[in-house]
Amino acid sequence: MDLQAIVDDIVRELEPRLGEGKVADYIPELARIDPKQFGIAITTVEGQTYKAGDAETSFSIQSISKVFMLTLALGKAGEGVWNRVGREPSGSAFNSIVQLEHEHGIPRNPFINAGAIVVADMVLAGHAPREAIGEYLRFMRYVADDETLSIDEKVAQSEQKTGYRNFALANFMRGFGNLHHPVEHVLGVYFHQCALALSCVQLSHAGLYLAHRGTNPLTGFSVVSPKRARRINALMMMCGHYDGSGDFAFHVGLPGKSGVGGGILAVAPGKASIAVWSPGLNKVGNSALGSVALEMLATKTGWSVFGT
Ligand code: GLU
Repeated sequence: MDLQAIVDDIVRELEPRLGEGKVADYIPELARIDPKQFGIAITTVEGQTYKAGDAETSFSIQSISKVFMLTLALGKAGEGVWNRVGREPSGSAFNSIVQLEHEHGIPRNPFINAGAIVVADMVLAGHAPREAIGEYLRFMRYVADDETLSIDEKVAQSEQKTGYRNFALANFMRGFGNLHHPVEHVLGVYFHQCALALSCVQLSHAGLYLAHRGTNPLTGFSVVSPKRARRINALMMMCGHYDGSGDFAFHVGLPGKSGVGGGILAVAPGKASIAVWSPGLNKVGNSALGSVALEMLATKTGWSVFGT
């Protein structure tokens, strides 16, 4: 299979559609991004990277960070994570508060905002916020095998100033006793994890452990056990695209996690880690062209986990 020809074709086919969707504007720093960009990178478990379009341009990974923070929290708290956050799809928007009251402050899953805020609280345990952010950044540099990764402080500050809904979610959960640290500390960690800037190439490297039984084949670094990698992939499949998760499984058929910066990380278990990026979002807050590109890729490669 000629993966370079496939990514080149996808970029060519999407060229006339550049700019589709709506850039996230509730975070002022993200509203300034030029929507007419698209990048794709595939890194295979054999260690080859294929890229096309704006694959080397950094973007804000936003909610894709939730996958990596969950990995860290599972390392710290093990199965205890699941006492404080569920594993069911929410069927609700990424920043929804409606289920939280019925479910006594236990978020449906770690990939909606409420769940990710609880996960950030777990990573914060035993640390000052600055140390927890440092631990996350070191972890990201380790999994991506790239010391140049950095957090875009402007994006973090921008969200800190305007993240009213996240403050509401966090205060609500603190009221239920499901946050153990001050809200400002937990959200400081959360906003910084979201503000990590990565290119598609870097993101495809960072996600490779999920495609290769928990170990990065490029470096040999063991990140999680095969069982844990499988389970994280299952959560990505069921919950990785908010209330668009069913649609993503239907069209693409791969575990994936989106972010409002327009990135999507997708995992083809045993085959490759794939990153796409295009800033315009569809109605449920997932990259419009990124979703289309992954559907094209799944069709061209036959990589769906549901069969070729
Ligand atoms: N930082 C964003 C927020 O909390 C992340 C949302 C997303 O990427 O879906 O609103």
